[in-house]
Amino acid sequence: MNSLSQAEEYLLQQVRRGSPDGWSQLVNRYQGRLLAFAQSKLKRRSDAEDIVQETFIGFLKGLDRFRGEASLETYLFTILRRKIVDSYRSGKARDVCLLQDVYDSRRSEDRDSDPFQKIAGDDPTASTYLRRDEQLDRQRHALADALLELANGYKQSLNFRDLQIVELLFYAQFGNRDVAQVVDISEKAVAVIKHRCLKQVREHIQRLKFSDIVRHEQFESLLTQVWESLRPSCPKRSTIGAFLLETLDDAWQQYVHFHLHTLGCHFCRANLEDLQKQTRSDDTVKLRNRIMESTVGFLRS
Ligand SMILES: [Zn+2]
Repeated sequence: MNSLSQAEEYLLQQVRRGSPDGWSQLVNRYQGRLLAFAQSKLKRRSDAEDIVQETFIGFLKGLDRFRGEASLETYLFTILRRKIVDSYRSGKARDVCLLQDVYDSRRSEDRDSDPFQKIAGDDPTASTYLRRDEQLDRQRHALADALLELANGYKQSLNFRDLQIVELLFYAQFGNRDVAQVVDISEKAVAVIKHRCLKQVREHIQRLKFSDIVRHEQFESLLTQVWESLRPSCPKRSTIGAFLLETLDDAWQQYVHFHLHTLGCHFCRANLEDLQKQTRSDDTVKLRNRIMESTVGFLRS
């Protein structure tokens, strides 16, 4: 499976060839959202800038092993989070959304096993995408396929209520009771929707002949990991832009509002903030130049 858009493929090709121009474009494209994310975790701007710079260095160093299973954005965010956790011992960087700071209801088995640890592994360059284990890779792909179908189905039918519930369950890792409280429906109704959704995912995987993961005892935790590396419900950056301009249909406008402000997805909030101050300020240019100077040596010539 390849999660890269054509534009990303093209940029990546340029960078792999060692083109400083391509690299500059890539840095330009992602530095703002990465910085916004880092600043939400680290109070000092200089620390945030340092860690973004290191993220780009880490990206170039691990470039050979990146196979495009996640979008460039998600891959860069994964490296960044890993670095924040390592350098600043900031456990909060593991959280994917604001609501997790407010509620403390994550399923205990997931908290104990720390899905982020499993995703990023020991390798500072986001080893989730570099796993050698082919069987596990194929299972992840089957699951990713199923989750994409699920999320797209909800979006196409404008069933944003169920999408929100599924996000709370598998992205934020909330228990049924807290989900019920957030979306204001009964706990039983949440259980029914969860059951229906898991059934759909399982059937999809069985069609792809991967029934062994369906029986996997940590199926839900694997599902959360794949959800995090794929982010199938996160609105596109262009959709967040349209949300800012209030040009979306009501149902979409409300959903994106939920995702950004109720769930509080950290990655999408970083995009929102970046879009809001996309005026090319002096600071942005300075940071870009600094990243270029410190990373261009890692490009192969
Ligand atoms: Zn998001």
